[in-house]
Amino acid sequence: MSIAYNLAEIKKKLPQHVTLVAVSKTHPAEVLMEAYQAGQRDFGENKIQEMADKAAQLPNDIRWHFIGHVQTNKIKYMAPFVYLVHGVDREKVLQELNKEAAKNNRIINCLLQVHIAREETKFGFSTDELKQLLTENLIEKYPHVRICGLMGMATFTDNEEQVRNEFRELKSLFNEAFTQILQPSAFNTLSMGMSGDYTTAIQEGSNMVRIGTAIFGERDYH
Ligand SMILES: *Cc1c(COP(=O)(O)O)cnc(C)c1O
Repeated sequence: MSIAYNLAEIKKKLPQHVTLVAVSKTHPAEVLMEAYQAGQRDFGENKIQEMADKAAQLPNDIRWHFIGHVQTNKIKYMAPFVYLVHGVDREKVLQELNKEAAKNNRIINCLLQVHIAREETKFGFSTDELKQLLTENLIEKYPHVRICGLMGMATFTDNEEQVRNEFRELKSLFNEAFTQILQPSAFNTLSMGMSGDYTTAIQEGSNMVRIGTAIFGERDYH
């Protein structure tokens, strides 16, 4: 099946208010161009250098989402153009984003990543850390960063009930954070759901899904 076909099939299942981020990590620019030609504009990458290389080769109306673990020493390479950074998982990242955004005379949008999976390997703030962070005046501290919502990844398991509960937990944290955050008008994005679990995520309140395999096929890691 073609990329255009896959995109169309997924779009049929997405309610209007849900943004589709096409996760194009590991795929070459020509493959992204195929999705672009089918109308896709939001792309997600998990390596800063790879995203910067592709951004240089592709049309500039693409919205680049950085969905990987953020290495603070590389933020400078994406600061001029990144649209949304999903994986802010420690305050140091906010500090560095703020610094590099200021140098570029812009505001960088980001999501705070929350650790919801029952797995050791996933990054993110714990519930307590998140609540603690939100007690600070983040607007004053980081004026070049706009916190637009939360992001999370469920446990990689066939147990749909568990996945659903984890998404539900994140949605409830999102609602709570909304009451705590100083800039509630900007706090409107809940990024959860991937190829295997996006339908469940949407039922539980996601409005941004990050889908790779179901669009581009299996990834080939060398
Ligand atoms: C790779 C990746 C995805 C996409 O995963 P698929 O299962 O291929 O849809 C989504 N989110 C993050 C953070 C990823 O790293």
